[in-house]
Amino acid sequence: MCGIVGYIGKRDAYPVLIKGLKRLEYRGYDSAGVALISNSGELHVYKAKGKVSDLEQFVADKDVSGNIGIAHTRWATHGEPNSTNAHPHISSSGNLSIIHNGIIENYSTIKRQLQDKGVEFKSETDTEVLVQLIEYVQSSQQVDLLTAVRLALREVIGAYAFALLDKNNPDQIIAARQSSPLVIGVGKDEFFLGSDASPIIEYTDRVVYLDNQDIAVITRGKEEVEFCNFNNERLEHEVQTVELNLGQIEKGGFPHFMLKEIFEQPRCLQDSMRGRVNIDVNHVVLSAVIDYRRQLINARRFIIVACGTSWHAGLIGKQLIECLCQIPVEVEYASEFRYSNPVIDSRDVVIAISQSGETADTLAAIELAKSRGAFIYGMCNAVGSSIARATHTGSYLHVGPEIGVASTKAFTGQVTVLTMLALAIGKARGTINNADYEKVVSELSKIPEKQTKLLECNDHVRDIARIFTYARNFIYLGRGYNYPVALEGALKLKEISYIHAEGYPAAEMKHGPIALIDDEMPVVVVATQNVLYDKVMSNIQELKARHARVIAIVTEGDTRVKDLADEYVEVPQTIECLEPLLSTIPLQLLAYHIAVCKRKDVDQPRNLAKSVTVE
Ligand code: GLU
Repeated sequence: MCGIVGYIGKRDAYPVLIKGLKRLEYRGYDSAGVALISNSGELHVYKAKGKVSDLEQFVADKDVSGNIGIAHTRWATHGEPNSTNAHPHISSSGNLSIIHNGIIENYSTIKRQLQDKGVEFKSETDTEVLVQLIEYVQSSQQVDLLTAVRLALREVIGAYAFALLDKNNPDQIIAARQSSPLVIGVGKDEFFLGSDASPIIEYTDRVVYLDNQDIAVITRGKEEVEFCNFNNERLEHEVQTVELNLGQIEKGGFPHFMLKEIFEQPRCLQDSMRGRVNIDVNHVVLSAVIDYRRQLINARRFIIVACGTSWHAGLIGKQLIECLCQIPVEVEYASEFRYSNPVIDSRDVVIAISQSGETADTLAAIELAKSRGAFIYGMCNAVGSSIARATHTGSYLHVGPEIGVASTKAFTGQVTVLTMLALAIGKARGTINNADYEKVVSELSKIPEKQTKLLECNDHVRDIARIFTYARNFIYLGRGYNYPVALEGALKLKEISYIHAEGYPAAEMKHGPIALIDDEMPVVVVATQNVLYDKVMSNIQELKARHARVIAIVTEGDTRVKDLADEYVEVPQTIECLEPLLSTIPLQLLAYHIAVCKRKDVDQPRNLAKSVTVE
């Protein structure tokens, strides 16, 4: 949630900051703002409701000089999205300005205490408390800014990544993190700051990731950033090299990131399998399963914790692991799990799935499970993310940065990694016979090619989307491995077209939802030719008998469902457990094209943000 950018160096800061905000806009976009210390030493703060482009327009005739600044694109948690609540927030004296990602949980207590001492607040945000508290500590205790930050943070409960600018010190930015991500880019005579590395990689590939309770002092002219903790102990951090390139975070000729990312799936899954799936000998190698073989193959139970799309991938993972490894699996919403009182011990393995690796609820679920002795396996896409660092071991998705807010390639990447994990553990446990193992590995390696062929359905799906653009509700049905696909298809539609959609296991229809069916209800049915095919056929008959309009996802060459359905999309044949890697794609495209037809903002849908770093 929310994007943070900072710059200090020799360049004009404003263009660097605006470009950075655009790269981070996927994280939040209800308002944006920038603070610059101008060449004449003034602190200029400009804020606007809406997107970064609205801020640009607002700033067009203003003084944007200066080579130090901070900027923010917001996803509001406290206080409605308007220009007053937009960041940066300024201290009462007008000297300090702050940008913040996260939630200050005890903000109301601190605010009241400061108000009692005469501090006046301008916004409704939790963030303003930070800057006011720091200034209050600085002036009441007559300490320097770094000391004031350290002392203030001891009072603060919550999650934050922030950057602080002091008008009286145009050569320094102070930043700190607790539970929200923050990266510093180290250039030659210049430093960059970002919520992730995307605003930085254009200028340098040398980065330092902040850890929890780190305070960073970034000073012009110094070669290194100085780090300390709340107790003023000096910390050393290694400069790492990031492997992102600009092409990965730009649209590459596609109108939207989401469409680019849907079309990237064949290549991304190849990347995900590279070095892991050996097709010459039909074998899967996952380093985590080699390094932590004992913990993984002897697990009494797996508990998958995740949110949103990752939770849907987890439901598929459950079926894969139970089938190939014969180990029971539970799938939990991380947000529920973290406040439950789960019966877990050291024989349990928790699999935490999160694209960004920063999902606050999933991180909290990990900490809870860890405290009860469970072994934690992480599955995320963002290298070096908080989840990657909080887990005992794990596997990256390696599908490249995902910018579209509605997850597509990360979902199929998660399912691919879960498949490899189930194969590797099943093989090590001897719960899958060699012939089946080799068959699944071989079929998995063919998925990218089949996806490429499947993506030729794009125009056809667009035509179907045009027919159903004005539907007010949708139902998605699937069974077995395709039930989570139905949930995911419905979620995609909700997220970007704002059409109400529900996913159900097809046979559950008659236990209630069938009452919703009439000739205005489109029903998307995943009806591929697997062991449940005949059952799903009957479910379609039940729908047609009630005049539903059926859009079916069928296996290539199918004739029976095609005859019944109003519209259909063919997907290549594969083995049942890998079907989600194909059947998901037409549903992603359907949601995309309906949203485009409805002229919705596909990459930045209302109210959503890409990485949910707040509870
Ligand atoms: N809690 C802060 C606010 O509402 C920051 C939210 C964010 O991370 O974008 O402004």
